Amino acid sequence: MRPILATISHAALNHNLAIAKKHAPNSKVMAVVKANGYGHGLLNVAQGLSDAEGFAVLGLNEAIDLREWGFEQTILLLEGVFNTGELNIAASYKVDIVVHCEQQLIMLETEQLAQSVAVHLKMNTGMNRLGFVPGEFKGACGRLQACRNVRSITLMTHFAAADEAIGITMPLHTFQKTTQDLTQAKSLANSATILRHPEAHADWVRPGIMLYGASPVKGTAASTWNLKPAMQFTSEIISVQTIQAGENVGYGHLFTASKTTRVGIVACGYADGYPRHAGQYATGDHQYGTPVAVCGRMTHTIGRVSMDMLFVDLTDIPEANIGSPVELWGDQVPVDTVAEACDTVGYELLCAVAARVPFKVISEANNGES
Ligand SMILES: *Cc1c(COP(=O)(O)O)cnc(C)c1O
Repeated sequence: MRPILATISHAALNHNLAIAKKHAPNSKVMAVVKANGYGHGLLNVAQGLSDAEGFAVLGLNEAIDLREWGFEQTILLLEGVFNTGELNIAASYKVDIVVHCEQQLIMLETEQLAQSVAVHLKMNTGMNRLGFVPGEFKGACGRLQACRNVRSITLMTHFAAADEAIGITMPLHTFQKTTQDLTQAKSLANSATILRHPEAHADWVRPGIMLYGASPVKGTAASTWNLKPAMQFTSEIISVQTIQAGENVGYGHLFTASKTTRVGIVACGYADGYPRHAGQYATGDHQYGTPVAVCGRMTHTIGRVSMDMLFVDLTDIPEANIGSPVELWGDQVPVDTVAEACDTVGYELLCAVAARVPFKVISEANNGES
């Protein structure tokens, strides 16, 4: 087996969930575990987040998996159902559904479901992605109330700029004004809203990225909120080359040594989910590599990331050799710092960890392998 590994910590997930609850003490938590638990493995994260009152996913298959693994919490389909077949199955598994458009409303009005469903009615408050515009929202809510297939209604929206300076003032105002005479429960807040906009916590909060210990806000470290990385993405040095000034490294000769350089080759490439466009240029004294830890010490990538391997500078880590531990991201190298060097966000890197990477779960109970 190649030495690459993604280690998932139930303790970190549970700790981050407690932080969400501390910030929003009067709200129930719908842990967002879409995209295979943001790349951490759906079952792995559901176990670590089992204190959450609900789970939100996209696919009906994920919702059914959670039910079949024994999770009895609320489970919500964030895009709702795509046809009446799915609607019937969702109802039979007691899976809640978002209703964001007229077509989904009509399905509910025309089907004869064996069990009624709980609906989260979505308002478009300016994201312009999913949801009823404010002028149509109360009408949609009235139709759901009249619908015998509908057991309960939660009023929901999603903010486009909770993580930005512009914030949520306008869309929150729109939501509050539109729903002021409606008595149903409300659900508005993603991670950035939980951490930055307590006025929008409402009855349910929907944290995603913060539960995995990454930052929802560009330029603000996850540690600012005492969040802990749920994933340690690690590998090892599998080869060492010492090159002289003027020699190159990797495809396209992207790195040229300006002095004698000790180069470590790490068993991790873009086919493992490490971004190929990671900062890769290094000339003279200017190093633009992506941060990496080797033997617990910080260094950076050099040259171009290839499919199965990448290069790191070991010149200042003489103790590093074949078999030395490498942290690609985790406790020492926040995934957000890697993301920043690649002009993306931690979300994308976590979700992109490839299926070929083996996972290990450290569960809180036995504090060992499971
Ligand atoms: C993904 C998602 C969330 C979670 O967002 P984070 O920024 O990861 O906290 C919440 N609500 C909806 C509707 C989402 O699609």
